[in-house]
Amino acid sequence: MTTQPIFAFVDLDDSLLQTREKCRQEPLVEAAYDRAGAPLSFHTPAQLALLDLLRGVTLIPVTGRNLRALRQVRSPRFASYRITSHGALVLGPDEDLLPSWRVLLDAQAARWAGPLAEAAALAEEFIAAERLALRSRVIEDLGVPVYVSIKGPPVELAFLAERIAPHWSTGVVHSNDKNLALLPPFADKAAAVRHLMAEIERTLEVEPVYIGIGDSLTDLPFLRLCHFALVPQHSQIQAHAWAVPGGLAEAGKLGDLG
Ligand SMILES: [Mg+2]
Repeated sequence: MTTQPIFAFVDLDDSLLQTREKCRQEPLVEAAYDRAGAPLSFHTPAQLALLDLLRGVTLIPVTGRNLRALRQVRSPRFASYRITSHGALVLGPDEDLLPSWRVLLDAQAARWAGPLAEAAALAEEFIAAERLALRSRVIEDLGVPVYVSIKGPPVELAFLAERIAPHWSTGVVHSNDKNLALLPPFADKAAAVRHLMAEIERTLEVEPVYIGIGDSLTDLPFLRLCHFALVPQHSQIQAHAWAVPGGLAEAGKLGDLG
């Protein structure tokens, strides 16, 4: 019997690494750095054990980071394809855009450059008018404007998200903790993963097995495409999708039943 190759599509931040204050275990191992080279994100022992288990599996990042920020991640290492900027870019192992993706991207990126700049300006207006402690900017990846990133305290982000969402109805509003992102339709993790799955299957003679790893609600569409999905504890998905009505007391009662 031929062994089926296994590919894992992995979100990075808050799935396989996170900032120090979010780590619930010690000791920590450095995973990613800031531009000055200072450690910014870490693996917990559980994440390291999981990465150890995944040795022999081809890891493909599916991240909100742009390529520059992905290069600041030193662990895990990636030797195959990579998906950056919430799915806007699909890159080969050489970090160049896949030619098949470039065709799709070129038309979309030209159409969305204007609306992204306008959305960022609108966010700035709200921030100034409400005196919010937030920072908004258009993120570029390989020179392509890919999404609007707004960062700051979660409560203020939630307030802004509510006001800006009606103005961004053609795209997706990604909101998790200290990050808010206005994603154009071409920044779509599931579409990028689907594209790569087709690319992978073209080159293989046996059917591959896919594992997805992600923590955010916006990861769900790409996790659904995989044979198995891994969701970290205390993640946004667990908090929303697996929440028990009535909280822990109710969970205890359910436990008594069976
Ligand atoms: Mg994440």
